[in-house]
Parts: sequence; C-alpha cells; structure tokens
Amino acid sequence: MSWHSGLDDVVSEQVSLADRNWLGVGGTAEFFARPTDAEQLVTLVERCRENDLAVRVLGGGSNLLIRDEGVTGVVISLDQGALVENRITANTITSGGGAKLAHLVSTAVGAGRAGLESLVGIPGTVGGALHGNAGNHGGDIGQWTSQATVLTRNGELIQRHREDLVFAHRQSSLDELAIVEAQFALEEEDPAVLSKRMQKNWISTKANQPMSHENTLCLFKDPRGIGAEKILEQAGLKGAAAGGVEVSSRHTNFVVAHPGATSDDVFRLTDMLREKVVQTVGVELEYHFEIW
Ligand SMILES: Cc1cc2nc3c(=O)[nH]c(=O)nc-3n(C[C@H](O)[C@H](O)[C@H](O)COP(=O)(O)OP(=O)(O)OC[C@H]3O[C@@H](n4cnc5c(N)ncnc54)[C@H](O)[C@@H]3O)c2cc1C
Repeated sequence: MSWHSGLDDVVSEQVSLADRNWLGVGGTAEFFARPTDAEQLVTLVERCRENDLAVRVLGGGSNLLIRDEGVTGVVISLDQGALVENRITANTITSGGGAKLAHLVSTAVGAGRAGLESLVGIPGTVGGALHGNAGNHGGDIGQWTSQATVLTRNGELIQRHREDLVFAHRQSSLDELAIVEAQFALEEEDPAVLSKRMQKNWISTKANQPMSHENTLCLFKDPRGIGAEKILEQAGLKGAAAGGVEVSSRHTNFVVAHPGATSDDVFRLTDMLREKVVQTVGVELEYHFEIW
C-alpha cells in the first residue's frame, strides 16, 4: 500500500517546482501535495512522519531557490480550499496560510481596515510572509499579527498568541512546519483613503522592482538598515551576470533568470557578489531567499 493511499486526489509524483517559483528555476518534487483543509494537512503530515518522508511547505515560491536536482520527500502547497480564505470580523481579519498576501491586503483595504496596505506589491502568501516577516519601509507583517495557528513537525495544531511571537528584520519566531491560519488586528479607516494610499505604495514599489514578466528573486537582506541595493551598487556590481542569470537593471538586489538558467548559475553569481562586497565595502551579505 502506498504511503498516500486515501489521499490520492491531493498527492502527485514528480512535479516540476520550476513552474511554482518566481525565478522559474529548479528540479522536481518527489511528491507534491495540495490539501484542501487543516484536517487533510494534519493527516498528510502524520503519514509523512510514519513513512520517514521529509516535508516542506511551499507558499508562492517568491523567496526560494530550488536546486536543479529537485527535492526528495513531500512538498505541500496550501493553495486551495479553506487554506486560502480571508474572513473579516470586527477589526480582525483571519487568513489561511496559503492565501495570497495581495488578496489579504486588498480585502483589508476594501473593508476599511488599515495597516497592511504598505505591503502591497510583495509577492507570495500570508504563510510565506509570516515565516520571513515580509515588509518594506512602510512596516512589516509581524506588527499587525495578533495570533497564528501552526502545525508542528509532530503533527500537532497549536495556537501562537501575540505575546509569544517575536518579529525582527525578515525574521519571525513562527518557524513551525506550517502556518495554517493567522489573525491580523487592524485599525478602522475610510476605504477610499486607504485605497489611495495603497495605490501610491503600489506605484512606488513597482517602479523599483524587476518587470512583472521577468523571472526574478530578491537576493540579500538589508544589513543593519542599509539597503543591500545601495551596497551592491557601491561595489560596482550593476550588470553582473553568470550563465543564464544577471543582476536586474531595475534593482541591483534582484537577479533575473533567462531561459535555460540553472540554480548553479545563481550560486556562482551570488558567491561572486558576496565576495566582491566583502572586498570593497567590508560587509557580509546574507541571503534573503531560502534554498531547497
Ligand atoms: C519581485 C519580488 C519583490 C519582493 N519584494 C519583497 C519586499 O518588498 N519585502 C519582502 O520582505 N520580501 C520581498 N520579496 C521576497 C518574497 O516575496 C517574500 O519573502 C515573501 O513573503 C515570500 O512568500 P512566499 O509565499 O512566496 O514564500 P515561499 O517562497 O514559497 O517560501 C519561503 C519560505 O517560507 C516558508 N513558507 C511558505 N509558506 C509557509 C507556510 N504557510 N507555513 C510555514 N512556512 C511557509 C517556506 O517553507 C520557505 O521556507 C520579493 C520577492 C520578489 C520576487
């Protein structure tokens, strides 16, 4: 009997991950699963544990570099059913971990709930944003988070409350296997005013990112408040390239992948960038993205 018997509708084998990340690079997942609710997710994770299978949770794939050899074990995507829903009650919005961040932001703005509108233009999901405390100059997602339901690696669903959540620059204490749901405590404001503010944020964000049709990845965290973009420019790295990848002409802290690019090309380029920055500016840059 296969490890996923009874879950065959939601588990597939040898699924391309290049099609599921923003850079468009990387191999396949040995198994790929798309549960539709928390109960099915718990069953999946229990089965993986019983069968010693590695488990990873994929959000929007906007902060991941997937190796060309792909990954063994199970990649779980929370991209459907109850796991992507947003619900509004009083000043709180509850979102599924797989909901698109953009959808949460537009739901909040439409309902006249202020706080998250500065996050417009950040790709990915609510779970991915909470995992890395996504944000920008206008703030980060952690500051609005009042509670989260997470699934531990042991298959236990637990609540994490505001008082035990710690957020820092692109860091979060929500490091369990899966963020299943989260609550955001927001402030009331006129939807028309909020919508204008969101549009303004959107225009300035988009003007400083690679074009939306490009396959791209954000490279480094901002070290101690200085923009990584400025540091890379200072080190003369505008236009640097390796194989099928190059530093974006619109923003030096992004890489753009051309057809045929590989994860090795990204490693060669980022190694070169980091080395050059240490030599010229004396700063050690840390990856923004995670590697699978
Ligand atoms: C064009 C572009 C612009 C960007 N701009 C910004 C920006 O302004 N600010 C910023 O902070 N980032 C930015 N990023 C990076 C990226 O969008 C964020 O890090 C985003 O929050 C990642 O979310 P994701 O759902 O795509 O996560 P993924 O890339 O799918 O995953 C990243 C990590 O999060 C984990 N994860 C994902 N979902 C869950 C979950 N439900 N439960 C537990 N763990 C989970 C994964 O296991 C993985 O370890 C940008 C990226 C791009 C390509």
